[in-house]
Amino acid sequence: MNVRGARSVCLRTMAPSRVPLCALPTPLHRLPRASRDLGVDLWIKRDDLTGFAGGGNKGRKLDFLMADALEKKVEVIVSAGSTQSNYLRQLSCACMMFGVHCVAAAMRLPYDGKAGKPVGRDLSDGGNRVLDALFGLDMRVFPDGTFDENDVNAQGLVREFEAKGKKVMKLPTGGSTPLGAYGYYMAGQELEAQRKDPFDFVVTASSSGATHAGLGYFFHGHASTLIGVSCDPEPEMVDDLAEIAMGLDEIVGLGRKMTRNDFDFRLGYYGAGYGVPSDEGDAAMDYLMRTEGILLDPIYTGKAFAGLLDMVRKEEVTGKVLFWHTGGLPTLFATAHS
Ligand SMILES: *Cc1c(COP(=O)(O)O)cnc(C)c1O
Repeated sequence: MNVRGARSVCLRTMAPSRVPLCALPTPLHRLPRASRDLGVDLWIKRDDLTGFAGGGNKGRKLDFLMADALEKKVEVIVSAGSTQSNYLRQLSCACMMFGVHCVAAAMRLPYDGKAGKPVGRDLSDGGNRVLDALFGLDMRVFPDGTFDENDVNAQGLVREFEAKGKKVMKLPTGGSTPLGAYGYYMAGQELEAQRKDPFDFVVTASSSGATHAGLGYFFHGHASTLIGVSCDPEPEMVDDLAEIAMGLDEIVGLGRKMTRNDFDFRLGYYGAGYGVPSDEGDAAMDYLMRTEGILLDPIYTGKAFAGLLDMVRKEEVTGKVLFWHTGGLPTLFATAHS
């Protein structure tokens, strides 16, 4: 490597700053009854127990996203999501702690433009919204439409607060920026520190992308095969994963140039669409609850675990298997909009 190359690597590896919101490391443990029943050596990584603001995967992203917002002296964070968003719940708590105003463009059931609005059980009230109210989230509920339309709504909120002279930061749905994904790159390191012996397969839910992209960047060229189970009917998401991972490489500086082909992204398990529970997901929730006493959620982890069970049944996933639990507990308390 020439001197210039060495210097650019050195500059790039300045670690992003972090506010320690999450209780880390999260537990890693075996699932003995499910392992015996399924005929694989099944383990779980408990990111439902990140602790912060009710737990879940968005906490790992917020450790870095909030540090960045505070360094930039942001006064208002504008974001977007569904009214039952786990991310908006954790984001609004972090904002409350640091005196940042948190405003969100929300829809009860935002959907992918191509797939259209799914039909199914409505979980838009209660649940996360109870916590959002405690955390002072300024949630603006818009009529249902596409994720792109909701982003336009969020842009309107940016203008509203900029017009008041505020320093505004806009974060995308799910906090899925390269810096958010950095939280999951670090989570990969955390797992490796807990257990040197690699898993054959690691399975996680995937939606806005930073979890799958960050872990994918970590596991690139690794002995473990990472599989992301999509909770959205959007094949194009795999391009977003590659884009987030390219941005993450700018931060980490390992020179891992990932493309869409580097991601094992499974589209078979989202049911009717984003935000609507599926029968298979509900059955998978019931299975893990009965065998191990662990609660999953109907929108993300239930569907992802249904994918894991199906892939184990088909022997696509064998040997030492890790399910990465990403949280979502408050959605179990959500109710239909009345
Ligand atoms: C947001 C979320 C996911 C998906 O993570 P992304 O980084 O958005 O892909 C999975 N599980 C739960 C419980 C979530 O809230």
